[in-house]
Amino acid sequence: NTFQQLGLNEDLLHAITDLGFETPSDVQIKTIPILLEKDTDLVALAQTGTGKTAAFGFPMLQKINIDSRTTQGLILSPTRELCLQITNEIKLYGKYCKGLNVVAIYGGASITDQARDVKKGAQIIVATPGRMKDMINRKLVDISKIEFAVLDEADEMLNMGFYEDITDILSYTPKEKNTWLFSATMPQEVSNIAKKFMRSPVEITV
Ligand code: AMP
Repeated sequence: NTFQQLGLNEDLLHAITDLGFETPSDVQIKTIPILLEKDTDLVALAQTGTGKTAAFGFPMLQKINIDSRTTQGLILSPTRELCLQITNEIKLYGKYCKGLNVVAIYGGASITDQARDVKKGAQIIVATPGRMKDMINRKLVDISKIEFAVLDEADEMLNMGFYEDITDILSYTPKEKNTWLFSATMPQEVSNIAKKFMRSPVEITV
């Protein structure tokens, strides 16, 4: 199994070579072809460290329109650290996607600076739920044209009490989008989110 066989484009394969990734990981093999080929929702039971950021990051990078400055991808993650980590990874994966702007939105840093970065035109936003909700309320961000929403570490976000923020945030996104949920465990609250916001998701386990 090679990254080429998964259907990734030249820009992404070039970045993968630079990163020294030799073979796709299990979660990448199971998700990337599906997400590239199908217009589908996904529930993936996967732990951290399995390469899941690339599992949703590569397909998102390949499917968004980089010539447009509209925000098309939203990734929600539980903590500031994870948010920054995902942002860095996506930037590395998209280093040859010319014109790509990825912006991180999280609490404990200047909201003005983050709003300014978003305003320059971010195709992808990586956010923690609390700050995201705050920026939506203040109309500093527009997620009404989102095509891809990722809920990363969904169980952790719900453990941290973000259920309401997540449901509020998703209510500002269009119905016709793809939602990809990643979680290490599948407690009731996570399946509730999946039931409420996803349409017959493909389910994979690694
Ligand atoms: P993640 O589970 O997304 O946090 O990824 C864990 C680490 O594995 C990150 O440092 C990635 O850059 C790295 N990684 C992701 N996919 C691969 C791969 N196919 N081969 C080698 N390293 C990878």
